Amino acid sequence: MAFQQVARRIDELADECVNFLVRICSIPAIGPESQGTGEMEKYRVIRDAVLTMAPDLVQEIHAPDDRVPDGTRPNLLAIFNGKETSRTFWILSHIDVVPPGERSLWDHDPFEPKIHEGFVSGRGVEDNGQAVVASIFAARAVRETVGFGLNVGLALVSDEESGSKFGLDHILKTRPDIFRPEDLIVVPDAGNKDGDHIEVAEKHLLHIRFRVKGIQGHASRPDLTRNTLRAASYLIVELDRALPAAFAEANPFFNPPVSTFEPTRKDANVPNVNTIPGEDVFFFDCRILPEVQVSRVIGEMQSVSRAIEEKFGVQVSAEEYLRSESSAATPSDSPVVVALAQAVQEVYGVQARPTGIGGQTVATFFRKNGLPAAVWEKILNTAHAPNERISVENLVGNAKVFAKMMI
Ligand SMILES: [Zn+2]
Repeated sequence: MAFQQVARRIDELADECVNFLVRICSIPAIGPESQGTGEMEKYRVIRDAVLTMAPDLVQEIHAPDDRVPDGTRPNLLAIFNGKETSRTFWILSHIDVVPPGERSLWDHDPFEPKIHEGFVSGRGVEDNGQAVVASIFAARAVRETVGFGLNVGLALVSDEESGSKFGLDHILKTRPDIFRPEDLIVVPDAGNKDGDHIEVAEKHLLHIRFRVKGIQGHASRPDLTRNTLRAASYLIVELDRALPAAFAEANPFFNPPVSTFEPTRKDANVPNVNTIPGEDVFFFDCRILPEVQVSRVIGEMQSVSRAIEEKFGVQVSAEEYLRSESSAATPSDSPVVVALAQAVQEVYGVQARPTGIGGQTVATFFRKNGLPAAVWEKILNTAHAPNERISVENLVGNAKVFAKMMI
């Protein structure tokens, strides 16, 4: 069987895989936001490894950035033609890493990766070195054995850790034609220990600042004031009741499965006890299911605010403090999710299910551009921690999952 031939080749290449991971993770690739010098040195080593495999198309889409010595943040797209050329299976991984953090918490120099009893430790080995290496070696093994079934694209990008402005976002803005809706896009940049979560959706993120204005005065003459702490308290209670009731729909992909509306920050008002406050400010953090319109949530907040204004004679403003809308979820029956689940079943023997998360990943840039992307990998979840590490078993297994999808 074709896949067994490829899997055997990946097993043969395992030591080479580990050595390449150690090599690239010994080169720091930290962005200027974290006082780093960028990704160029590490990028060159990765690019040379990809070029050795003679891709059919190579695009370097660098983003100018004069904060780093080379003046650019490098991005590589390499495509290998398959037998079926109508669509491309993309794997996007990032080459930048976060700083090591508190050095004394590490057992060794974070940029001198160590191999020990089937594990590799060092900064960047999991986030996102394992994916970089697994995708490159999967392509190599397929190329050296049965050949690609469909076009395979390796995207190796910068600046994921600081918002992707010089990475994926830059690629999508300068070359909007390079990724197509019919392509299969996997972003191996989050996952779990069993490898059975395929992240297909993210909630909208909304931070609202409520400002309640009344009339300040002496606490002995409340009849001359408009007490904003009382009005704000009623407003919080009313929002806490009305929002979950108005947006009660559930989506079982997510944990928790519903939109959440949490009162969080409360700013100080008056410093003394015998003054009735004339201004109060508080915030709500809302994580809203993608199928719910953010504008409807804001509309509900405004109607609750109007009722409180009337009842207490105060003014309430609800301002957007932060708004980051996720796009529609990647459908759980989309080709990338189906192919990924099949490959995970074949390699790891687990049934992977589509899930959603409350945070946001780099896949959101794809989804915002109408490109269905799935986030998956099998990892130990040590990203950003001291003694970040991966298991060689996962590195090799993930390469097999990608290879299965390539043939
Ligand atoms: Zn990452």
